[in-house]
Amino acid sequence: MSRALQNHQVKKVVIAGGGTAGWVAAAALSKKLGPFIDVVLVESDQIGTVGVGEATIPPMRIFHSLLGIDEQEFMRATEAVFKLGISFKNWGQIGDHYLHPFGTTGQGSYLADFQHFWLHGKSRGIEHDFDQYSLEIQAAKANKFATSKTGAINFAYHLDATRYAQFLRTFSEKNGATRIEGKIQHVHQHANGDISGLQLESGELIEGDLFIDCTGFRGLLIDQTLKTDYEDWSHWLPCDSAIAVQTESVVPPVPYVTCTAHHAGWQWHIPLQHRVGNGNVFCSQFMSDDDAKQHLLNNIEGKVLTDPRVIKYKTGRRKQFWNKNCIALGLSSGFVEPLESTSIYLFMNGIVRLMRMFPFHGITQSAMDEYNQQSIAELENVRDFIILHYHVTQREDSEFWRYCKNMSIPDTLSHRIELFKHNALAFQDERELFRLESWTHVMLGQGIKPESYHPMFSTMSDEELMAHLGHIRSSITNAVSKLPPHATFVQQYCQAKGN
Ligand code: FAD
Repeated sequence: MSRALQNHQVKKVVIAGGGTAGWVAAAALSKKLGPFIDVVLVESDQIGTVGVGEATIPPMRIFHSLLGIDEQEFMRATEAVFKLGISFKNWGQIGDHYLHPFGTTGQGSYLADFQHFWLHGKSRGIEHDFDQYSLEIQAAKANKFATSKTGAINFAYHLDATRYAQFLRTFSEKNGATRIEGKIQHVHQHANGDISGLQLESGELIEGDLFIDCTGFRGLLIDQTLKTDYEDWSHWLPCDSAIAVQTESVVPPVPYVTCTAHHAGWQWHIPLQHRVGNGNVFCSQFMSDDDAKQHLLNNIEGKVLTDPRVIKYKTGRRKQFWNKNCIALGLSSGFVEPLESTSIYLFMNGIVRLMRMFPFHGITQSAMDEYNQQSIAELENVRDFIILHYHVTQREDSEFWRYCKNMSIPDTLSHRIELFKHNALAFQDERELFRLESWTHVMLGQGIKPESYHPMFSTMSDEELMAHLGHIRSSITNAVSKLPPHATFVQQYCQAKGN
């Protein structure tokens, strides 16, 4: 353990990098720990940010409320719209379509979750799809949305990543964070390897007690300086490239992301108020950059607003997220894949985790170990959930899909798939991000047909069964019929200036 920092109070935190991760960290630390520490962020306009990362998941709302961020102000500033889930096309088989929604689906019982009820209904001739029991899916399909005080609908946002970083910068500076513009040229270390300061091209030296590496895929501190090992997951998540392009909107924004699989990866479509974000995520072993670009341009609508940009990455994670007096947040800590929009969530949770165990009185090995263990467990759960989408497929139309279908997968994931296949059982551990409904929707959506299910609902008569399932469906239909169109609600609630 670092001698320099044992019993050494942490009074100054230096954040390297001002992408979404850097400004999320600055916003949280300045707002919540401002009375105890100084927060300094260094970024380089010359280098810029990765500029993608525009789909989010519901816990972002908790993070915003922790910081006292006003939803309407945030949405106006970031051209945001609402998100109810993700629409997956061509994943199980070409022509397949399912939606992975936020929120709960149906109503189960203490002993058996709703999918058992639904499966029993099917066996008795009630053929309605599982998605008819999700309010979020039905609202998404009808392109309708409204927030409600009762919190009946669970939602997240699509946002403009560049504007979000700017929004958080203003927020952080108001709360006392200091921004320093400049390119970090050299990272200084104490004799024991702890980081002591960041030297900029201008010669300025920024010293600190604790450093947060938010320099993106470069990993300037955690990787280039501290040489923290990386666990490579590309044998499970083989996509390693993306091309992103922005287009003009040609239709009002829908409240969901669309992920359309193709022969060597998939394409995203994320509508915002003022434009659409599009991207092609692919595996370079099976698709060249040029082919990927052409594929993307052939499959978008509306005038292209930006030059297509190629981004290269390796899926995996740092073996330590907190190493010496440096914590990696964002892309510097690892990257799973953008498929389920988890990256922003992971560093929001990372900074909250750090604030809960903040080393005010010195860094201890036990705090580092706990932080690393929690962060790794969380990320591995997300990893398994993403692999599920690739592995549980019937597609065999390309080398890429044949590889994904036949690859070996983590034991933790095999176990979940087997449980669902045999007994329709899904579960969610206490600290896991993805709820059992998420696992259920994706496993059913990708084509798993459970062989058996819990018999407890077989004690109901067919009439009772029909009445109960019918009541859930009709209350959803009724609720959706009362919602306004999504675009109308956005216009009234949070229209950005100038739209
Ligand atoms: P960056 O945005 O790369 O920021 C790095 C910062 O470090 C910049 O400010 C840069 O100037 C600075 N920097 C670097 N080197 C130096 C230096 N030498 N001196 C000074 N400053 C320096 N996440 C989601 O949650 N949802 C999504 O839908 C989603 N989609 C994605 C799609 C793709 C294709 C990819 C690759 C990622 C996606 N992500 C998504 C992840 C998301 O984009 C990132 O987690 C998020 O943008 C945070 O990035 P970052 O701040 O870590 O890095």
